[in-house]
Amino acid sequence: MNCYDVIIVGGGLAGLTAAIDLSQKSYSILVIEKKKYPHHKVCGEYVSNEVLPYMNSLGVSFAGIQTKSIKTLLLSSSKGKSVQTELPLGGLGISRFAFDHLLYKRALEMGVDFRFDRALAIDYQEDVFEVRTEKDEKFSGHLVIGAYGKRSVLDKNLKRAFIYNKSSWLGVKAHYKNDDFPDDLVALHNFNGGYGGLSKTETGAINFCYLASYKSFQKEKSIENFNTNVIAQNPFLREFLQKSKPIFKEPLTIAQVSFYRKTAVEDHILMCGDTAGLIHPLCGNGMAMAIKSAQIFSEIFLEAFQTNDFERDKLEEKYRNKWESEFGERLKTGRLIQRILLNPYASKIGFTMARALPSLVPKIIKKTHGTKSL
Ligand SMILES: Cc1cc2nc3c(=O)[nH]c(=O)nc-3n(C[C@H](O)[C@H](O)[C@H](O)COP(=O)(O)OP(=O)(O)OC[C@H]3O[C@@H](n4cnc5c(N)ncnc54)[C@H](O)[C@@H]3O)c2cc1C
Repeated sequence: MNCYDVIIVGGGLAGLTAAIDLSQKSYSILVIEKKKYPHHKVCGEYVSNEVLPYMNSLGVSFAGIQTKSIKTLLLSSSKGKSVQTELPLGGLGISRFAFDHLLYKRALEMGVDFRFDRALAIDYQEDVFEVRTEKDEKFSGHLVIGAYGKRSVLDKNLKRAFIYNKSSWLGVKAHYKNDDFPDDLVALHNFNGGYGGLSKTETGAINFCYLASYKSFQKEKSIENFNTNVIAQNPFLREFLQKSKPIFKEPLTIAQVSFYRKTAVEDHILMCGDTAGLIHPLCGNGMAMAIKSAQIFSEIFLEAFQTNDFERDKLEEKYRNKWESEFGERLKTGRLIQRILLNPYASKIGFTMARALPSLVPKIIKKTHGTKSL
């Protein structure tokens, strides 16, 4: 059986980016992805500009896509108190349908192999990995990157600690038509038990994506009721829902969105993107972190192989440390902001302070983001 240099399980932003980077240096790469491209995903679809220099270096060009240039952030409390500020770095409005597809096409150009199948098990024995899929195919590789996102059957098989904690968050996303929504705005609106982001994508559609606690959602029993009875209590969201036309037949949903701590290396598998840790979506930085973690992995991998200094334990230790130093603080700040926003009293104080001193907001945002450098 052919043994790949690297097998990447999951072809989202982290997996595809790592595949492109490593294939540029002529390593043999297989991506195992369960869904064919292009496909929609539950995501706020605001990506920080910090990814641009690295995307450029990988030959990923947004030139043919009408991405929106987002510069302004509007925040509102569940009662409609609001504050508006410039974003320190700004970002792009692009759907995951387009973004993941763009990276997939670039990976194909670079000679990356793809298998569209669900990976069910990853076994490590005698310094080689074997990945088994649902169609009962087996692939072997010297290294495996776990880039399969927030939650998977693989986490159960690996007995990862976070999987035993029930998560109480639900993600919902749909595109809408609304000609009044500005191109350069990302809005983050709170409601009782959650928050939702609004921003424009390359098609001109507005993406409305929200995270809600089961506790608040369960009472309403359907998305329609939840929109009317909970989300529309926020005056900004009420106006948006009244004036906008849904484009999707049904919203997309994901259950059990987990923010529990994870580990960056498990059973010798190097975890990238959400598989290693998910930042609270209100920070608008999960996509950039997924891409950055692929970059970190690629740098450490190349350093080890190009200098003929490969020792598995050393590489794993380096990756673990680099991951923590790059993302540890961002995740902590994200948790703190989420706690404040979802607590009615703390959030009231937070909004009063932000309205009195709007320059505070970009400073806090900076703590949850990286920098725009390679
Ligand atoms: C509600 C919500 C809103 C968000 N909004 C934003 C935002 O506005 N901006 C931002 O930057 N971030 C946002 N995020 C975070 C962002 O979506 C993620 O951080 C990002 O998608 C992580 O990319 P990834 O490649 O790690 O995972 P994913 O993009 O989830 O990719 C994982 C891939 O693995 C595949 N897969 C899973 N299991 C298997 C398997 N067993 N075998 C084969 N393939 C498999 C999946 O099909 C998928 O394609 C949001 C998240 C949520 C929940």
